Amino acid sequence: MLNSLISSIKRWRKPANPGPRVIARSDHSISRRDISRAALTVMKRLQEAGFQAYIVGGGVRDLLLGGHPKDFDVATDATPEQAKQLFRGSRIVGRRFRILHARIGREVIEVTTFRGHHSDGEEHEAQQSEHGMLLRDNVYGDLQSDAVRRDFTVNALYYTTNGFAIHDYTGGVRDIEQRLIRMIGDPVTRYKEDPVRMLRAVRFAAKLDFNIEDKTAAPLTELAPLLRNIAPARLFDEVLKLLMSGHGERTFELLRQYRLWHHLFPDNAARLDDPAALELTRLALRNTDQRIREEMRVTPAFLYAALLWPAVNAEQQKLVDRGTPPVPALAQAAQKITSSQLAHTAIPKRFSIPMREIWDLQSRLSQRGGNRAQRQSEHPRFRAAYDFLLLREQCGELEPGLGQWWTEFQQADDEQRQQMVRKLQRSGSGSGNRRGRGSRGGRRRRPPKAAE
Ligand code: ATP
Ligand code: MG
Repeated sequence: MLNSLISSIKRWRKPANPGPRVIARSDHSISRRDISRAALTVMKRLQEAGFQAYIVGGGVRDLLLGGHPKDFDVATDATPEQAKQLFRGSRIVGRRFRILHARIGREVIEVTTFRGHHSDGEEHEAQQSEHGMLLRDNVYGDLQSDAVRRDFTVNALYYTTNGFAIHDYTGGVRDIEQRLIRMIGDPVTRYKEDPVRMLRAVRFAAKLDFNIEDKTAAPLTELAPLLRNIAPARLFDEVLKLLMSGHGERTFELLRQYRLWHHLFPDNAARLDDPAALELTRLALRNTDQRIREEMRVTPAFLYAALLWPAVNAEQQKLVDRGTPPVPALAQAAQKITSSQLAHTAIPKRFSIPMREIWDLQSRLSQRGGNRAQRQSEHPRFRAAYDFLLLREQCGELEPGLGQWWTEFQQADDEQRQQMVRKLQRSGSGSGNRRGRGSRGGRRRRPPKAAE
């Protein structure tokens, strides 16, 4: 009795080699109706030209989980050049990994050619760096070799309208049932080939609310420094997927747990012992997650402003303590922390400029005398800066009060606004700009008779 129990536990714990498994139409829940017309058109056209075509990756995974995939990727045995012939206006993109962007109406479907093993095949185009990182992955193969080149078992399921079956070579269906992110093959080798897979493991675990299987999770912390070898521009794209897809807070906790965070945002990570900095980081991510749920606009400028703020703030303080006036101190601190971050993840100018404006406005929001409050409220970045001020109050970095004042100011009509400012002047508060006066950082001329 006990023996049979032990052996059944052993059987359960040691995944049997799954081999190719074909799940027939009647045994799975995916139907053609769940798939976008564009993806169906791409598959049909490839099949009519005599090629194989499968939906693969997130599309199949998310449908099996009952979700709505955000897009569908197609895998085929046609080379990018052959597939290009079939779709007018399509483009071959990528160097490390060449794929076809097939345009169908307004949708773009990514069409990838089956990848093969690097040790065989004439077309030996795979190249590796000294760290074992794959520089090119354009060796073509068949469905099975394609499956094992993918990252996680749950991402390696193929569905085709030619027979309507799901093809599972790596045990992905079982892992979906068990809610596990499991690397295909040896995790260490696969992370070394492409360290971004470490981020992807965490991203899918957070997004799908899956666990990371033990062997897949084990090397993460030790290999985290490999992220240094990834181009900052690619890491910026990954950061957006990690933090701005609606599960940012959970993703952050996992990234921190595996010390991947320390390689993405070292200046933030270095300050997380300060409870206010940790809370600001969490609140900013929670706020972003909530806005995404409510289909409100989110911008990396706001998130980056929050993530880097504790370091900027500390650096500014250091400069002020050494005698630099606050406004130039902020400018210098902003410059230093921004360029330090750029070495890890790029920040395109269209985000770094508004990020710095949000920081600049933090001190200006306390200057409300005369017509300043009105002017600040008309600044294009006012709303973001105000939201950010509320976060700073909420995490305990600032005494509460100013945020409430601005909340009321925005709700007030002209007459009430003037009264609010007069009241401030009577009570002697509302300038807060003494620190900035005469500094190099102040671009705007002081109005001749600014009431304070
Ligand atoms: P999402 O829902 O975020 O789009 P996805 O699984 O579709 O998730 P993509 O980044 O769109 O992810 O990639 C499509 C597929 O390509 C993945 O499911 C996976 O099979 C494969 N893939 C992507 N990136 C890698 C990688 N770095 N290494 C191995 N396979 C990868
Ligand atoms: Mg996808």
